[in-house]
Amino acid sequence: MFLCSCGGVMLVYEIEKYPDGLSSADELEYERKCTVECPNCKMILSDQKYD
Ligand SMILES: [Zn+2]
Repeated sequence: MFLCSCGGVMLVYEIEKYPDGLSSADELEYERKCTVECPNCKMILSDQKYD
């Protein structure tokens, strides 16, 4: 859950893909980043921790 500075709840807009060649165990360890967008003020923040 991400909160915008305007008080809105930011929605996940895009999630980083796992790099090629990761095993499923590695995928569990890998911390993906995501981009979130506020539906109220349209602010976009990238490189947010997702997992
Ligand atoms: Zn906002």
